[in-house]
Amino acid sequence: MTIRATSKGLTVFDALAADIVKASKAPHAASASYDTSAEILSLEQHDYTRPLRRALARSEVREIVDEARSAVWPRLNHESVKLVSPAKFTRHWSGLGVQFQLAKLNGADGVALLGFYVREMGRSRLPLICVNTAHHPAAIGAAFCHEMGHHLVGRLFDSSENHAQMLTMTAYGEHLSDPEELAADVLVCIGMYPEAAARKIFLIPHKGRPPKSAPAELPDSVATTVLEFMQSRFGLNFGPQMASTKGLQYLAAVIHFAKLRRALLTEYDI
Ligand SMILES: [Zn+2]
Repeated sequence: MTIRATSKGLTVFDALAADIVKASKAPHAASASYDTSAEILSLEQHDYTRPLRRALARSEVREIVDEARSAVWPRLNHESVKLVSPAKFTRHWSGLGVQFQLAKLNGADGVALLGFYVREMGRSRLPLICVNTAHHPAAIGAAFCHEMGHHLVGRLFDSSENHAQMLTMTAYGEHLSDPEELAADVLVCIGMYPEAAARKIFLIPHKGRPPKSAPAELPDSVATTVLEFMQSRFGLNFGPQMASTKGLQYLAAVIHFAKLRRALLTEYDI
């Protein structure tokens, strides 16, 4: 990944998105790229603090984190969730009352899907987590955590929603108005950025104290640190080898989870 100085009016993320689009040779990717570029811009400008407060109270976030610690990740918010192979994820989580299905969907449509969770599978069958393994290990890990989040949150809040919940690559904006989706994403972003790392990345410019109101957009210095963190911690590198559509989708995810993590700090000091 090379992080270049941004030209006038472009944020670090916009400049990177433009680079990824430019590096793309496939003409069929153009419209998908256009949509995802628009989504990136929208996520960048979206306020995350109000949607978070509307969807989940501080006590609910605490409850979700406690449940996740006791059931799945004892070190959650102390250290980053470890990326392991899909087979290892399913082995580690085999006793959690859920079944798994792995599928490698690499086609133009399939690749937009990260995973889904089905709570009601019929009598005597366990809920199902399906994960698309055609993605970068960081995206696969995020999908496992997000879908496990649905499983835990459903147990915790006795959810009556039965429909399959798809995690597609281009729907993060919709998660902001959906408490169940946002709850699952809360676990992903805390899994990515444990508290100490999150404070260092998102709060250092404010001398370690949460600012009263964070600007909607991440400052360029923070955006740069976020990209470096994703590269060093999870091997997610937005270099020229990153295929256009996937690269833009991953960039949208990076922005979404970074802004959600910052909102948890500034709003709830978590
Ligand atoms: Zn979901």
